[in-house]
Amino acid sequence: MISPGGIIGVLGNGQLGRMFALAAARLGYRVWCYGPEVDSPAGRVCARDFAAPYEDLDRVRDFARQVSAVTLEFENIPVETVSAVAEIAPLRPGELPLYIAQHRRREKEFLNSHGIPVAPFRVVHSLDELTTAAQELGLPCILKSAGFGYDGKGQARITAPEQIAAAWETVNVTECVLEGWIDFTREISVLVARDAHGAAVTWDPFENRHVGGILDLSICPASIPDELQQQARQLAVRVAESLELVGLLCVEMFVTRGNELIVNEMAPRPHNSGHLTIEGCVTSQFEQQARITAGLPLGSTALRQPTAMVNLLGERWEGGEPNWSAALALPGVSLHLYGKEEPRRGRKMGHLTALGVTAEQAAKLALEARERLKLR
Ligand code: AMP
Repeated sequence: MISPGGIIGVLGNGQLGRMFALAAARLGYRVWCYGPEVDSPAGRVCARDFAAPYEDLDRVRDFARQVSAVTLEFENIPVETVSAVAEIAPLRPGELPLYIAQHRRREKEFLNSHGIPVAPFRVVHSLDELTTAAQELGLPCILKSAGFGYDGKGQARITAPEQIAAAWETVNVTECVLEGWIDFTREISVLVARDAHGAAVTWDPFENRHVGGILDLSICPASIPDELQQQARQLAVRVAESLELVGLLCVEMFVTRGNELIVNEMAPRPHNSGHLTIEGCVTSQFEQQARITAGLPLGSTALRQPTAMVNLLGERWEGGEPNWSAALALPGVSLHLYGKEEPRRGRKMGHLTALGVTAEQAAKLALEARERLKLR
């Protein structure tokens, strides 16, 4: 166990690292971050900021030697960097979950081989292979780059045969995964926390709405039957166990019309849909990450109150500085800003959380708060 006062390292210096550092600091830890960005969201709140490239392995080792354990907030960290850290300090999560989650083909094959339901898929390396695969899977289908991808980037939907060539051009990589279309009624995600002894807990599933491939709204509890919630939680734990994961895992799933669960993707780190656990749950995803990394017992994941979260993307700044006072005047609304200076379109700048009597009411309040940001 790392006693409070000890130093915990985090790889990655975005908003997830920032919120992790704030939660760990509350438990008395000092957090040092390592990542390529200078004056980053995490760097601005960490006790020490190693702003250096992941490829600078001497610097990476220097960082790892001075901290008691390392966690991460970003899974697409080069394998060499991850290995260099793991040789020196306990790394949570370890190398296997990272290796699998970094790559869509590996992720799909891993889940499939462990009997976890995923969308029907084919791995394709050329336009010819894509054409054949599209015939096999049927249209519509969705082409995704096999390597680094997030927030719907590197994807193209194919609804008619004449779109196949254009989709190949759009995604423009040498290896892709073509997925059959899932006619889902809802998208949910389940967060699992698993400690070094193999004990695992899950939060209530979150129900998620995406706009343009980016998460827009999450609510908890999800509007799905209790039995399905239990199934989703069990499925997520199975994935975490298969990965021998120590840390957090977020498993995103589709709920089909027939109430079947299909795993879409997973991330071995805190997740955007779990931000509502900060206000909504007894233990937030970030505090849980700190507990696991430090070797403390897992905290209760119980939901205190129905909660909703809406993201604030860069476009919210287009009409000038958002009206924070108008949003925060609503009781039950909390604001999180990530300390990013440049509000680019599609860039996650912050989020709003709202508590309600029901999830629906919380969602209404969160959306109203976001609308109020436009008031002049
Ligand atoms: P991803 O980057 O894989 O999470 O995809 C982004 C979003 O695209 C998902 O949240 C879904 O809304 C949609 N999507 C992805 N894959 C499929 C699929 N096989 N069938 C239907 N919708 C999908």
